[in-house]
Amino acid sequence: MAPSAITPTTEDYVSLSLKANYTPCLEESHNGKALSKAMIGRALQQRVQSIDEDTCEPGEEDAFFVADMGDIYRQHLRWKKHLNRVKPHYAVKCNPDPQVLRLLAAMGTGFDCASKAEIDMVLRLGVDPSRIIYAQPCKTKSYVRYASKQGVRQMTFDNLDELYKIKELFPDAELYLRILTDDSASLCRLSLKFGASLDDTGDLLALARKLDLNVVGVAFHVGSGASDPAAFLKAVRDARFVFDQAAALGYELKTLDVGGGFVSETFDDMAAVLSVALDEYFPPSVRVIGEPGRYYVSSAFTIACNVIARRSVEDKVLGVNSYMLYLNDGVYGNFSSIMFDHQHPIPRVLKAANSPASTYDAVAPYDAGNNLPLEYSIWGPTCDGIDCISESWTCTQTLDVGDWLYFEDMGAYTKCSATKFNGFSDSHATVYISSEPGASALLGY
Ligand SMILES: *Cc1c(COP(=O)(O)O)cnc(C)c1O
Repeated sequence: MAPSAITPTTEDYVSLSLKANYTPCLEESHNGKALSKAMIGRALQQRVQSIDEDTCEPGEEDAFFVADMGDIYRQHLRWKKHLNRVKPHYAVKCNPDPQVLRLLAAMGTGFDCASKAEIDMVLRLGVDPSRIIYAQPCKTKSYVRYASKQGVRQMTFDNLDELYKIKELFPDAELYLRILTDDSASLCRLSLKFGASLDDTGDLLALARKLDLNVVGVAFHVGSGASDPAAFLKAVRDARFVFDQAAALGYELKTLDVGGGFVSETFDDMAAVLSVALDEYFPPSVRVIGEPGRYYVSSAFTIACNVIARRSVEDKVLGVNSYMLYLNDGVYGNFSSIMFDHQHPIPRVLKAANSPASTYDAVAPYDAGNNLPLEYSIWGPTCDGIDCISESWTCTQTLDVGDWLYFEDMGAYTKCSATKFNGFSDSHATVYISSEPGASALLGY
């Protein structure tokens, strides 16, 4: 894969114009993505230049994020353009960054929360409880009582026991029956754990009726990082079946929740299939909501990591030398996405002091003069052998202790699942920027 430059190159502009079928809305700056890259590059370089590993206090050279709120703003406009019928409820678990939540709240999205803490975070922003769905089919009892007290009425269920629990704790909650989906083509399967099969939905609705519970809709999730648009089509059809099943029991369901799973790269295609399916199976009187997580935040966050150690490795048999680079962040930290989200973050050079090709220059490393490619493996800072970011990476620049690498697309399922293992920090500085005037205005940047 060709490394992309942080400073905008002609390539960026070309790829922008190739994507020209996506016409920017009025409120969106014209070359948003290119400007975004330039601004992120500047922010990364500014911070890195301010750090001297030889004199700094412990931790001042820690890995840090640059987050472009403008990117999130653009994703929201894109959602409205391609999936206008579906009202997004951002899945907080994906990245509960306070600035992200603040921007989304200001843009008017709803929120998908799965715990008391997530509900609190959103309510504290002044969001009306009616904009929250407690989308966890297997809830903690005290949290259900809390949701009731706070007026968070919408919640999902997928089993009989949960219905008895809700009857006892929050009998007039607005319930969504979560159904199973075919998530075999997704990155992270969720249907192994959640969702009622269509063989069971009849019994569930009958019990809900008997308990006089308020079922208002159907929910599904095609798996996080979904790749097959047909999964949405089938899920919408199955949801229709359950709407009809409920009608036969006297329920008039009002809302369909199409969940998350959207990936930025394939969003337009997914949205097209989903829109057609929705219009075919559900009249406009049915409200449709969604719970996108990674779609909104993945590309907004870039992380920079410091090379804290290097080990030269000599392969006497093959006669090749390679290097092991040790960074100050790894799979127990913000690269938790490697373990939990099956990601393969791509390293790029931010600062290579000893390289004749570049200092503080993020031009694509493959273009660095006549240097032969060097072989690297990249490791995190903990003492565990599984703490490996990349087993094999080639780069023409000679990297050493004190240099910096950066990784793009680090906004989803990264810092939210970081640990404190081995005494390394689970929270890192974030430099917030905005490449969209619309987002800057909402956030007061
Ligand atoms: C995780 C989750 C989401 C978000 O999924 P993405 O793939 O990040 O869009 C939405 N809804 C529920 C119920 C989830 O568990």
